[in-house]
Amino acid sequence: MSIEDDNRIGNDINNVENIPDEDIETNYYEIIDSFDNMNLKESLCRGIYNYGFEKPSSIQQRGIKPIIEGYDVIAQAHSGTGKTATFAIGILQKVDTNVRTCQALVVVPTRELAHQIHKVFMAIGDYLNVQCHVCIGGTNVGADMARLEEAQIVVGTPGRVLDMLKRNALKPSGINMFVLDESDEMLSRGFKDMIRDMIECLRPDTQIILLSATMPIEVLQVTRQFMKKNAIKILLKKEELTLEGIKQFYIGVEEGWKLETLLDLYKTINVSKAVIFCNTKNKVDYLLSNLLQKDFVVSAMHSNMDQKGRDKIMREFRTGSSRILLCTDLISRGIDVQQVSLVINYDLPANKEIYIHRIGRSGRFGRKGVAINLVSSYDMPHMLEIETYYHTKIVELPNNISDIL
Ligand code: ADP
Ligand code: MG
Repeated sequence: MSIEDDNRIGNDINNVENIPDEDIETNYYEIIDSFDNMNLKESLCRGIYNYGFEKPSSIQQRGIKPIIEGYDVIAQAHSGTGKTATFAIGILQKVDTNVRTCQALVVVPTRELAHQIHKVFMAIGDYLNVQCHVCIGGTNVGADMARLEEAQIVVGTPGRVLDMLKRNALKPSGINMFVLDESDEMLSRGFKDMIRDMIECLRPDTQIILLSATMPIEVLQVTRQFMKKNAIKILLKKEELTLEGIKQFYIGVEEGWKLETLLDLYKTINVSKAVIFCNTKNKVDYLLSNLLQKDFVVSAMHSNMDQKGRDKIMREFRTGSSRILLCTDLISRGIDVQQVSLVINYDLPANKEIYIHRIGRSGRFGRKGVAINLVSSYDMPHMLEIETYYHTKIVELPNNISDIL
């Protein structure tokens, strides 16, 4: 991915301290390594420190300032490195709390993620008297419309947000900032048309901000159609994409032996929280009933469940009343549960980006994580492909795994 030189803006690239890390490609060279130096509102700074953040992460050091300055921004950074607060702080700094209309619209792929991001806004914005509303399907439309009258920040999922824009319950005239979290997913098949329709509703000068851990070249090309020419890009080089601090292993096992292998694995390891990913809902159900029979404390989640059920499962898992979460790719993106130290791919995912997002559920914000892949001979070539593509090594699980975990 080459960055066009004409996009370069005048930062002091001769200043050694401002030269970006080797693994980041960018056309923006300013790095601010303390929240105090970002010229934030005092009450916002207080919220940030109170939330427990002391120092901005790498993406926050680079991404917050251009967002505040009003540039369109494409920000790619490893899973679990604080992309949420990057846009949340940018938005909270810019929102005018005296104006009661939606000024910032954040769109994300799942309802769970919308709730999680809402919580971050509420926490960091605690001293700002700002209204943030979650706008998602499965809730009462009338109530949603009423709440939108008041909200300055709206976090939602595509279907409901588009509906609200079309009904003019969400008024495009006031919306200055439009954020797509997990943007490569948002701009891929399922959501692409809805996102295009949304952008058509918005003012042409609306600031657009995209964030994801993965940013395939096809997606970057699509963004040219709707982002401004001088957009700031903060991208990771492909080779650096694999998550640092996450050890990746595989166990060669044929489909019929996977359950047995998983049970054996659990005899030898002792982990606080694990997520097990399957490729189909049926397999999630199958594993659930088998693990329950063996007295595992486990919960399961997939898209056939209603929202109440899904919320309950996430709550159980976050609070620790269940320690294993079985799921499909419904939550492979964005969900942040700090204590997850192990991700098991019961099935290898169907594409390379999903692999990164799944294993990114462990090792959040610098914690150590482990990923274990159950790989059949049929999937083996696919795993090798993942290794080659990301220049990474997935090694056979050693016998002393309990020492590693
Ligand atoms: P991403 O979206 O990049 O995958 P998140 O925004 O979900 O990551 O953040 C991952 C975790 O890191 C969250 O639990 C968040 O509270 C924490 N975090 C983010 N920024 C900081 C910071 N500056 N200091 C400490 N913890 C942080
Ligand atoms: Mg995220």
